Amino acid sequence: MNETFSLYRLQQLDSQRVQRLKRIKQIDKIIASDIALLRAQSVVRKAMEALAENEQMLQENSRKLDEKVLKRKLTQAKLFGGKISATKELQDLQAESEALARAIKVLEEEEMNLFVVNEARQSTKAKAETELQNIRNQKASENSKLLGERENLKAQLPKINSQREALHAQLSPEVLEEYTTLFKSKGGVAVAEIFDGGCRVCGVDLSPTEVQQASNPNVIIKCKSCGRILYKI
Ligand SMILES: [Zn+2]
Repeated sequence: MNETFSLYRLQQLDSQRVQRLKRIKQIDKIIASDIALLRAQSVVRKAMEALAENEQMLQENSRKLDEKVLKRKLTQAKLFGGKISATKELQDLQAESEALARAIKVLEEEEMNLFVVNEARQSTKAKAETELQNIRNQKASENSKLLGERENLKAQLPKINSQREALHAQLSPEVLEEYTTLFKSKGGVAVAEIFDGGCRVCGVDLSPTEVQQASNPNVIIKCKSCGRILYKI
């Protein structure tokens, strides 16, 4: 069995696999970190919060208004009910009724203001939502291309993996471990071709003996300079 050829082939497959996985990761990142989309989402969220805050103020104002209106009705009922005749008490009730009328007026004015603000905030929210939808539609077409590429890359992986597994089975565990360690530590290039009498990766010149040894399919020799497994095509 030609171990160095198997290793060389394994490296090609491993490189293809690494390239595809890298690109898949990159695509996922592009899709996830879409700045325009994140910004539009944030604008919608803020618009919703502002509207909710105003609606709460409206509710609170309305509650206070109802309370004052009811209180004033009761005061007026007492005032004109005819059961109270003491001048001082009637004067107090009159003053209370007037104070309540003033408070009601203030609350009614505040309610009007809050309605105006509410309308503006509703419109801001609707605009932000439309903008977000537009960006989503635009991104959907852009992303569909990327997602198509991603699917395609993913679909290639099982074939690459089964070929890798077949080669793993052919290699001795020691050689495979050595290769794996080199692949990780040498930037994804564990096997270096011999080119023009030298190591193709680091460029060092090899002696004729080394080149000859590397030509023997059953001997694994490494580059004296970069430490990679040498392979003679
Ligand atoms: Zn080298």
